[in-house]
Amino acid sequence: MSLSKKRAINWTDVMQNNYGEPKITLHSGKGLIVTDVDGKKYLDFLGGIATNVLGHAHPVIVRAVSKQVATLGHVSNFYSHPSGVALAEKLQELTGDNTARVFFCNSGAEANEAALKLSRKTGRSKIVATKGAFHGRTMGALSLTGQPSKRNPFKPLLKKIKHVTFGDISEMRKAVNSKTAMVIVEPIMGEAGVVVPPLGYLKELRTLCSENGVLLVFDCVQTGMGRTGTWFGFEDEKIRPDVITLAKGLGGGLPLGAMITLGSNSPRFEPGEHGTTFGGNPVATAAGLAAIEYLAKNRILASVKSYEKRLKIKLGAIRGVSEVRGRGLLLGIGLDGSYAKALASKLADRGVLVNAPNEETIRIAPALIVSTLQIDKFINVFSQCMQEVERG
Ligand SMILES: *Cc1c(COP(=O)(O)O)cnc(C)c1O
Repeated sequence: MSLSKKRAINWTDVMQNNYGEPKITLHSGKGLIVTDVDGKKYLDFLGGIATNVLGHAHPVIVRAVSKQVATLGHVSNFYSHPSGVALAEKLQELTGDNTARVFFCNSGAEANEAALKLSRKTGRSKIVATKGAFHGRTMGALSLTGQPSKRNPFKPLLKKIKHVTFGDISEMRKAVNSKTAMVIVEPIMGEAGVVVPPLGYLKELRTLCSENGVLLVFDCVQTGMGRTGTWFGFEDEKIRPDVITLAKGLGGGLPLGAMITLGSNSPRFEPGEHGTTFGGNPVATAAGLAAIEYLAKNRILASVKSYEKRLKIKLGAIRGVSEVRGRGLLLGIGLDGSYAKALASKLADRGVLVNAPNEETIRIAPALIVSTLQIDKFINVFSQCMQEVERG
């Protein structure tokens, strides 16, 4: 067919099938409401997978992006630019550590690749990660990822990476020694179905890594940027890792990732050791800065904590819900059977978007600017769908 002839866009005719053909084609969004190409509206409780902290088309993001792209769009890292430095300064401030140093990239996988590469500078090469963890899909990040279904088709992966049970400190103790370069964990495992480690686990990891001179890396790609009611997702344990990786919510909906080293003893990249063309681009960093400033100015993180309480109490009382895991607005609703995918698709029919990371869990990660009214609407529709769904 000639290109000049108009035809309906057919996803399968032009796309790789790695995602499978999506059932919904979205056209526009405002706040937490998205509209598909047929005009049907949805309450977006997935938020681009924990990414749209300010929802869709937030005026603050629109203004920051429009202004930046009209002023200076992209320059590469041969040049510095004000919004990149300003966002790095803001992130340093949020870590509370003026020795923190930021490397910007475009995604979570790239942030973890940077951490992985940085860990080689310790002169050690053994790495310990956890089973079930998700750290990204590139070959290095996939080597850290602890999910056999994603790893196995692409072996061989990087060597000397051991995966231990998440939350089990004694297994971790057996795996970590003075030859270990780094330990990487998610403060809460997101893709695995919102799995929270026992209280004290992260603190014990900190002690173990310090004793062995091992870099402790917290992958805060999903838990970061206010999602859990704190800026990074590990603050409740009152400890500090050596490296933080961020992406998802960091760009306020634009592609942006970061690897941040903490403390003056952490290794740092020197000129020529690492880089990226787009990473920390003016437009993405302007959006990221605008998002953080808005969240801070309007004390949104406090409301994230109160929404957590409301959701946990009300969802937990619904028949068929076995538990509600997670923190802040990153919650996994555990079901009493294997019907999460059917439930997610029923919710979509009823105009609510969520996802099912596995057959027993519904994950929600709505924009942090969600209203109480929208929270209650979600609970209502969820409860109705639970009554109707065929329990498998
Ligand atoms: C999503 C995610 C990643 C990968 O991020 P991409 O931007 O998809 O590369 C890494 N780690 C965690 C914890 C994530 O949730």
